[in-house]
Order: sequence, then structure tokens, then C-alpha cells
Amino acid sequence: YANGAAIIAGGRAPLAALASLQDVERVFGRDRRGQRWRSRTLDLDIVLWSGGAWYGPRLAIPHPLFRQRDFVLHPAAQIAPDWRDPVSGLTLRQLAARAVRRR
Ligand code: AMP
Repeated sequence: YANGAAIIAGGRAPLAALASLQDVERVFGRDRRGQRWRSRTLDLDIVLWSGGAWYGPRLAIPHPLFRQRDFVLHPAAQIAPDWRDPVSGLTLRQLAARAVRRR
């Protein structure tokens, strides 16, 4: 896999942002009807949001697994090291350093 992180500016509400990301996934040929963990062309997740935490039936922000995922934390900490996780209170830099220590 190739992993990356991006900051998307645009003021979209969380569910609208998710719908846009899923449109992009579809353009790249990901068929969401298939098996959950099969190989994917593109997987886009919302990790953090400038509005803080947001929870709904189809969406949880911060992403529930991002603190354990080095492949998310490392690229995210490179572009926004001081962005703070609203749940743990730790910055992306701190979370990435912890993930490296756990390895
Ligand atoms: P996955 O197939 O693992 O990428 O899961 C995709 C589904 O997870 C989406 O259809 C969303 O409804 C749900 N989801 C929950 N939280 C998030 C999030 N923070 N970012 C992206 N998808 C999420």
C-alpha cells in the first residue's frame, strides 16, 4: 500500500465530507458492495476534523482506529504535527512517537 495524509479545507460538514470522499473512492473503482477487507484501489478516511469530535451511526471522528495505525499517524504528523486529538489530548506528533515506540 501507499499511504498518505491530506488536509482538506472547504468547510464541509462531516457527513457531506464523507460522501465526497466516497465519491472519489468510486471514481477510483472501489466497489463498496464487496468483502470488507479485500484489496482496495483507494481507501479514504476522515481522521480528524477542525470542529473536534463528531459521532453518528455511519461516521466517527476522530477515526476510531487512527491512534493505533502507524501508517496513518506518520504521514498525518508530517503535515500537521501540532494538531491535537480531541479525545486523548495528544498531538499527532506525540501519537506518532508512541506508535513508533510500540513497534
Ligand atoms: P472501511 O470500509 O473500513 O473504509 O469503512 C468504511 C465505512 O466506515 C464508511 O462507509 C463509513 O460509514 C464508516 N466510517 C466510520 N467512521 C469513519 C471515518 N472517520 N472515516 C471514514 N469512514 C468512516
